[in-house]
Parts: sequence; C-alpha cells; structure tokens
Amino acid sequence: MDKITLHGKTFRPFIKNEELEGIIDDVADRINADFAECEDVPILLCVLNGAVMFTAAVMKRLNFNVELCSIKLSSYVGTQSTGTVLMPIGLTSDVKDRRVIILEDIVDTGNTIVALKELLFSKGAKDVKICSMLMKPEVYAKPDKIDYVGKEIPNAFIVGYGLDYDELGRQFKDIYVIDAQ
Ligand code: 5GP
Repeated sequence: MDKITLHGKTFRPFIKNEELEGIIDDVADRINADFAECEDVPILLCVLNGAVMFTAAVMKRLNFNVELCSIKLSSYVGTQSTGTVLMPIGLTSDVKDRRVIILEDIVDTGNTIVALKELLFSKGAKDVKICSMLMKPEVYAKPDKIDYVGKEIPNAFIVGYGLDYDELGRQFKDIYVIDAQ
C-alpha cells in the first residue's frame, strides 16, 4: 500500500482491506446473533454516501430477511465537522412500526447518528439500533449507545472504503489517514 494524494493532501495507509473484512465479519456475527429467528423484516438503513461499501458488505453476511432503505446526510466540509446535519435525500422507505438497523461509516461527534435516531423515532420506528464500521471515542459526545462498533480509532481524518475527502477517495478498498500537515 502506497500513500495517496487527494485534492493536494497526502494520506498514508491505515487499515488494510483484510482487517476491514474481519471487522465486518465480527459485526455481522453480532447482528445475526441478536436478530436470529426474528419474525419481522427489519430495515437496514444505509447512510449515504459514506456507508455504501460497508452496507453492502454487512448485508451479504446477514442470515435473516431485511429491507434496504437509504438516507443521505452530511455534516462534513473538507476535513472538519460543521456540527450541522443536512439531509439532501430523505428516507426512502416508511419506517413506521419497523425495527431499523442504521449502518454508518464512522461515528465522530455523534451529531449525525443522534439526529437520525430522533428522526426515525419521530417517523414511528419501533426500535433503532446503530451499527458503525468505525468510531472516534475521543470526540464522541452523546449519551446514546452505539450498539455495534467495528473498530475504535484515534481522532484523525480518514478516507477510503466509502469515506471521502470532498468527494474523492471513496473507491479505495483500504482506509488511509491524513498525513500530519
Ligand atoms: P458526526 O456527526 O458523528 O460528527 O460525524 C459523522 C459523519 O461525519 C460521518 O458519517 C462521516 O460522513 C463524517 N466523518 C466523520 N469523521 C470522518 C473522517 O475521519 N473521514 C471522513 N471522510 N468523514 C468523516
């Protein structure tokens, strides 16, 4: 794995695809155990765009029926969180009386995930679980529990496996961290 350059900033290798695959196996095992023999069809909610790869990877490991739904949220500009959560695309399915499993790429301050959870309950969701591939515990500032976390990482800006820097870098199968400036 070599360094990559996006919009003039360099990023170094951080999490290899092989490790990510193992992390996702583990997360999917835990979801499968909790939803084993469920009689309803839970909604798998992909938070666009960053969670696209993670959602596909988790989904193909699940052994119960799910309905796929998406929403597009954004709070980052460049490498910084703005603290304001925008919703360019709303929920693509009705969540009333449904159990929802949110699939997120990374939880940072928690603003996005908590706003989403509140939205889902306001639309009548019966239960909401949060599953995030990665999490930055140093900056997480909410009381809400993140039900399934793949891996905790330090507070640094990363790209790859769906995550972008101003829309670039999503296609890499490994994850890269920004080089000290
Ligand atoms: P939060 O609302 O928890 O502060 O931020 C969550 C969202 O910010 C994620 O869905 C993701 O889009 C973005 N984000 C947070 N940390 C990073 C990061 O290190 N890299 C990238 N590319 N996006 C991030």
